[in-house]
Amino acid sequence: RAFRVQFNSAIGPYKGGIRLHPSVNQSIMKFLAFEQTLKNSLTGLAMGGGKGGCDFDPKGKSDVEIMHFCQSFITELFRHIGADTDVPAGDIGTGAREVGYMFGQYKRLKNEFTGVFTGKGLAFGGSLARPEATGYGLCYFTNKMLEVMKQTSFKDKKVIISGSGNVAMYALQKVTELGGTVVAMSDSGGYIYNENGIDFEVIKEIKLNNRLRINEYLKYYPETVYVANSKEIWGVKCDIALPCATQNEIDIEDAEKLVANNVLAVAEGANMPCTLEATNYFIENNVLYGPAKAANAGGVLVSGLEMSQNSMRLSWSFEEVDEKLKNQMEKIFMEVYECAKHYGNEYNTVLGANISGFKKVATAMMAQGVC
Ligand code: NDP
Repeated sequence: RAFRVQFNSAIGPYKGGIRLHPSVNQSIMKFLAFEQTLKNSLTGLAMGGGKGGCDFDPKGKSDVEIMHFCQSFITELFRHIGADTDVPAGDIGTGAREVGYMFGQYKRLKNEFTGVFTGKGLAFGGSLARPEATGYGLCYFTNKMLEVMKQTSFKDKKVIISGSGNVAMYALQKVTELGGTVVAMSDSGGYIYNENGIDFEVIKEIKLNNRLRINEYLKYYPETVYVANSKEIWGVKCDIALPCATQNEIDIEDAEKLVANNVLAVAEGANMPCTLEATNYFIENNVLYGPAKAANAGGVLVSGLEMSQNSMRLSWSFEEVDEKLKNQMEKIFMEVYECAKHYGNEYNTVLGANISGFKKVATAMMAQGVC
């Protein structure tokens, strides 16, 4: 069963990822498309909001099975998307391999080479730094939040990251570069803990290059502890928590554990990983909080830059894209923070992000007339 929710196109073509996971249903697609609308508005680029996916489980499938699935999926979806209509991208279960197969099928059916997908391979219109963008952007946002609100940074902080996919992996790399130590990471089977820090190259080898389980890490670093329950990661003592796996992965009990362990900041790499109760608990306890629609906007931001490069038939260097990403993520934090302060509570970045994102969309909708 597959879905595409085209939520809002007031400020640009619908834009949002495609998720391939057995849990996909209409309700999840709708909340993600709604969030995406406000997130895309926060990027400052001309992109509306959408989201899609299928309850197909890509785990354990061969490359050929994945290719055939992606081709069948686009054989139906192609009539609803287009570079100026709706531009899908990756999400859970959809990386560069899947985007490549989907783009290829679209091109085959339409006989046109356009920027209809983002997250494409570099050889056919992809942007440098797109794979890294969400994880790096999350860290740029969080570092700015730490600097402005607590006059500190990632340096010498203990960090836990849930998940070990696209977002989690590049967050690990950037946290390490910024001087923090990632002591725990997970996949849906469990989590690993190593107080000396987790090695980005090894995670990349296990998860991206070989699509294996995270407990393989123990073959490289035998002193690492593996716990076969991914939920328990939130009981690990840390200064900063970056949930980067999936929705509702931090509930109120997990939030209480994090606060009891004196967590300084929680920033969402995944979409809505904290339940509403957990979010409110963090805000009430003055934990610095980066809501997903702002903190993980780096992915779609660089997707927007990929669309610009495609339109201009140009490609920018890694450094150029990374610099634009960093500047814009810091700008998003400042906009959200100033808005939250203006409405009475600087710790309520959820309020700040919702109001900032909503205003632009609402203004555009009103200006275009109501029907
Ligand atoms: P990936 O498929 O690359 O990785 C997902 C990771 O999360 C995997 O390690 C997976 O483990 C783990 N995971 C999934 N479900 C659970 C669970 N119930 N408990 C613990 N771990 C779980 O996806 P992405 O990294 O692309 O996406 C992660 C999140 O970030 C999603 O919420 C997505 O919407 C959001 N996001 C992604 C963006 C992007 O650019 N990719 C942009 C903005 C937001 P396993 O392998 O065992 O399934």
